[in-house]
Amino acid sequence: MKPRIYSTTVLVAGAGMAGLCAGISALERGAQVLVIEKSDQPGGSMAMSNGLIWTLRSKDEVRRQVPQGDEALQDLLVDGLTESLDWLVQQGAQLEPMQTVLGHGFGRRASGGQLTAALTERATAMGANIMTGVSLQSLLTENGAVVGALAFDANGPIEIRAASVILTTGGFQGNCELVTRYITPHADALYLRSNPNSTGDGLLAALDVGAATTPWLNAFYGHAMNAPPARFDASQFQNMSHKYGQMAVALNLSGRRFADESAGTGEELLNAHLSRQSGATAAYVVDAAIGELSYEVSALPRVVIERARQAGARVVQANTLEELAQGMQAWGIPSAHSLQTLQDYNAAIKAGTGAALHPPRVGNAFALETPPFSAVLVRASITYTCGGLRTDLDMRVLRRATSVSMMPLAKPGLSEWRTGTIAGLYAAGCDMGGISIHGYLGGLAQALVTGRAAGSAAAADSC
Ligand SMILES: Cc1cc2nc3c(=O)[nH]c(=O)nc-3n(C[C@H](O)[C@H](O)[C@H](O)COP(=O)(O)OP(=O)(O)OC[C@H]3O[C@@H](n4cnc5c(N)ncnc54)[C@H](O)[C@@H]3O)c2cc1C
Repeated sequence: MKPRIYSTTVLVAGAGMAGLCAGISALERGAQVLVIEKSDQPGGSMAMSNGLIWTLRSKDEVRRQVPQGDEALQDLLVDGLTESLDWLVQQGAQLEPMQTVLGHGFGRRASGGQLTAALTERATAMGANIMTGVSLQSLLTENGAVVGALAFDANGPIEIRAASVILTTGGFQGNCELVTRYITPHADALYLRSNPNSTGDGLLAALDVGAATTPWLNAFYGHAMNAPPARFDASQFQNMSHKYGQMAVALNLSGRRFADESAGTGEELLNAHLSRQSGATAAYVVDAAIGELSYEVSALPRVVIERARQAGARVVQANTLEELAQGMQAWGIPSAHSLQTLQDYNAAIKAGTGAALHPPRVGNAFALETPPFSAVLVRASITYTCGGLRTDLDMRVLRRATSVSMMPLAKPGLSEWRTGTIAGLYAAGCDMGGISIHGYLGGLAQALVTGRAAGSAAAADSC
């Protein structure tokens, strides 16, 4: 079938947070903008989100908490967020006042639905053509420069000629093959806690034309959720997420601890370790005292576990650790192992030697002492991938062949630093990587700031 032909100045692939912000920014600089969206409506994971647009409060905090990320990109985010939030309000987004987040961050809360509606309306009012049900598949090149894309809708191929293409397809979390390759051999057990359309199309199309990727393609954000046989749908993602995990004791199916539960900016790091355990499954264990500890981003642990029980999750409650271990035996967790692990953990915490455990327990040094004890079976989920295309600070995608590696140890000194870009190609939001590496700086904030940067640069380079 012959493709239908369209042409535009800036083509944006993906109408989520990054794509809509990129499109509006390109329109502000006078570009003609075509946005294609795989789903039959804009919004992506932005529309499903909690709407908290935040990041860590300072560059020092970022260096301390997320040292493996790309410092220049992280700084762009921290420096750019406040002004970008003001910009968002000018686009019609309704944001709550600035607030402290988790004690170490700042940001403003929106509603995912209102944000989607406002940005879609604004882009359309400014003249963007938003085509839904249209998916980018590959990039068109001439002499190494990107000059458009091949996309598909229900009626077949569409060739879109464009001076610039911005990839904002939302990451590769929905692509089981890529998740297996880069993140965990247990990918097929992971829950997808995201929109279902982000299947790595941007990354794959860019790799085909020679794009470079960031280190740490195994980094991702997500939270443990109720393991089967619990049943729930996408509207319950928040309520079914066990974000208190940093305060719990996590046991894999062998009855062993597998990570310092307390480490990281939130439960996402424990969830990442969990994704690499058999079946991506574990038991989170708390006592009655931990069950009542309040935690800024979620309900009390006791409430989350009760919600899980009501959703059909496997939950055991017992007055002794021996009985609890017996209860978990029915889940395939050997009771002798789990009991020994919990007793060793308690002994070390009470002796103040949690850091000497294997794995250590450095923060949240809570012994399991107050009955009743609860255990809930949870499974890792993936919300979005944090490694991705390597970009410069204008979100131009780097060309692998003309850029030096950024892997540790051989990381070049300033005199050897060399990067080349692929003309006409940009990436933003979850399609670009390197910011939230084994720590979390906020997904919406990343999409907002990098989306704006990509749209501005693409328009400036092509108009
Ligand atoms: C339940 C939930 C709660 C969350 N809560 C928060 C929160 O409170 N705070 C926060 O900071 N982050 C939160 N996030 C994460 C946040 O939503 C994402 O980080 C953010 O939306 C990423 O923006 P994006 O534009 O990269 O991707 P998205 O917003 O997901 O947009 C990507 C778009 O690309 C489209 N697409 C995919 N492939 C193609 C293709 N081939 N062609 C065309 N279009 C394509 C998708 O359909 C989608 O519309 C949450 C996510 C979820 C799922």
